[in-house]
Amino acid sequence: MTDDAGVPKSAKGRLYVVATPIGNLDDVSARALKVLADVALIAAEDTRHSIRLMQHFGITTALAACHEHNERDEGGRFLGRLLAGDDVALVSDAGTPLISDPGYHLVRQARAAGIEVVPVPGACALIAALSAAGLPSDRFIFEGFLPAKAVARRGRLGQLKEEPRTLIFYEAPHRILECLEDMRSVFGEDRPAVLAREISKTFETIKSLPLDQLCSFVAGDSNQQRGECVVLVGGWVAPVGDEQIDSEAQRVLGLLLAEMPLKKAAALAAEITGVRKNLLYQFALELQKDK
Ligand code: SAM
Repeated sequence: MTDDAGVPKSAKGRLYVVATPIGNLDDVSARALKVLADVALIAAEDTRHSIRLMQHFGITTALAACHEHNERDEGGRFLGRLLAGDDVALVSDAGTPLISDPGYHLVRQARAAGIEVVPVPGACALIAALSAAGLPSDRFIFEGFLPAKAVARRGRLGQLKEEPRTLIFYEAPHRILECLEDMRSVFGEDRPAVLAREISKTFETIKSLPLDQLCSFVAGDSNQQRGECVVLVGGWVAPVGDEQIDSEAQRVLGLLLAEMPLKKAAALAAEITGVRKNLLYQFALELQKDK
């Protein structure tokens, strides 16, 4: 037997980790449909949910539950099938499995058992949101869901206050306003932010505003407190006196500092980024003090 790229297949089955749409069903890939139709079994976060997707595409493959409560225990059942030579596809309710979704334990168990794990890439809300947000995308961190309780949430946000990379969060619609308000009080009113709602669906909204205005926008329109959403927040920009060094300039300076003396690094970083040499020099001195 060969796989879809014509590569000879081992006696063990393969575990395919298959991304499914996050809204618009046309976002499913042709390869995902082929894999879902060809495997012996689909391990699904919620079989009742996934069956609708399969029916829509005329896929008749058997489904079995693989959710966060049974994943560790039931992993053995899927492993048994894989070791016996059956291919299994793992899907979640929407988007990429394992991304704030079940699948981690099964993938780990499969890899530990020497089973080939094959990603079938596709939709992922955080990547779709980042691709359209207009915030720096060269470096970012994904925080998943913040704690539901206000004290723990503020605590986590406090730890992220001086994070220079773009921050990405998932949030439930009923908590979106309190979450944005906490972000405003921790990160400051002027921090740039983006709310990406209902991506690829009818009421898709991608709103980019400073946190204070984003809070007012969401508070003033209850429709913005519905549906699925991703929140993105611009990274922290280190203040130096009245002027600021943006994250790109910090990154360039950091790279150069690793390669050359401080003065030369500051001069070269100034040429590359357009930020004043003296400012970069002072910033580099501070950096070295902290080491
Ligand atoms: N595995 C999924 C992925 O790849 O993005 C994420 C699953 S997680 C349980 C669900 C969260 O993803 C939602 O609460 C929301 O924050 C985000 N999300 C999923 N679909 C979305 C959409 N169409 N628009 C905006 N956010 C979405």
